[in-house]
Amino acid sequence: MSSAFRNRRIPTILVALAAISAFCVGCSDSEDESDSTTTTTTRSAEGADALTPFVGTVHFPPVPFAGSDGKNHLVYELSVTNFTSGKTTLDSLQVIDADSGAVIDDLDAAEAHQRLQPAGSRDSADSLEAGESGTIFLHVTLDESVAVPKNVVHKVTTTAEAAPPDLRTSTAEVGPTKIDSRTLPVLSSPLRGERFIAADGCCDASRHTRAILPVNGQTFVAQRYAIDYEQADDQLRIFTGEPTDPKSYFIFGEDVLAAADGTVVGTRNDLPEQVPGTFPSGISLDAADGNYVVLDIGNGFFINYAHMQPGSVRVKLGDKVSTGDVLGLVGNTGNSVAPHLHFHVMDGPSPLASQGLPYLNDKFSITGQVASTADFDRSEGTGIPLVTVPGLQTTEHSDQLVMDQNIVTFG
Ligand SMILES: [Zn+2]
Repeated sequence: MSSAFRNRRIPTILVALAAISAFCVGCSDSEDESDSTTTTTTRSAEGADALTPFVGTVHFPPVPFAGSDGKNHLVYELSVTNFTSGKTTLDSLQVIDADSGAVIDDLDAAEAHQRLQPAGSRDSADSLEAGESGTIFLHVTLDESVAVPKNVVHKVTTTAEAAPPDLRTSTAEVGPTKIDSRTLPVLSSPLRGERFIAADGCCDASRHTRAILPVNGQTFVAQRYAIDYEQADDQLRIFTGEPTDPKSYFIFGEDVLAAADGTVVGTRNDLPEQVPGTFPSGISLDAADGNYVVLDIGNGFFINYAHMQPGSVRVKLGDKVSTGDVLGLVGNTGNSVAPHLHFHVMDGPSPLASQGLPYLNDKFSITGQVASTADFDRSEGTGIPLVTVPGLQTTEHSDQLVMDQNIVTFG
């Protein structure tokens, strides 16, 4: 073994191996130097061995679903580590159908940076420092005419400061994964009435979709498809009157309904209302959901309902419930800034140590669309009417997932 290989410094190894690679390791009888060097930057993407600055894994394969926009969606995370001793910048990322080779998502530098977050950070980044890990939060939208792939892989282009100049920018295939084709549950409505706003819903609102948490020694995104339901009046106001009074909010006290037949496997009913307007301080992890119910609805799917009024939860552990049964009343308990129903589906009974799963809403109307999360936040914080996307007609939907900032009627 050469001295370079005994040296523990990664850049030296990178230089040594990359240089060897450039001169035809694994080639058969080619003597053509120019040929081998010109393929260096794409070699790993073409199947031969090569050093790659980013290594990555998809820990929880994407589960495709039909959204209320009529398209199919893949929402998942590519966990990456910069395995060099210098800063490595993410230049672009393509999601490839691994069977057909078709590019199904193509992120330029700005788009890729928006989706990269270093571990432990809630901010986006353009790069990872030496040895740093991060998550690339992906959302692939597929038109109806495009077949949902069975396997995907990511073509990741990076610029690694620790690599020699001619190898600094390279492209590699990272994080191959199968697509999870499990059958999704079709759920009844968790609320009944008009003008419910699906805030922080799937797929690019960051508060739930990017709520990756280290729990019990691994990462989970239990809230990957969570929605915070608010409700507006006919003037599209979320509350009127005193903003610190929970009763000022139109959704406060609405019935929370079983969206499927199930068994109660988690619940709490004793936490007090918080004062709306600011997030409470000092909330412990086990009180974050406030008064809640977790339903086991079978086939590995569980529903979490959070933040209900104290004393309003009318089911207990082990109870069997039927679709449409009232579980409790919408409140403002736990880690909540305003009365709302937090609703999500997951693959286990723990609202933290589980993976969020998509589902389909059986029947709903979309009567509007809030223009942006910022507009929603402004209305929730001030009581001014919601700013909505102009010119939308009411549309009827079935067997689709309610998506971010849809204003829906549940019958
Ligand atoms: Zn929530």
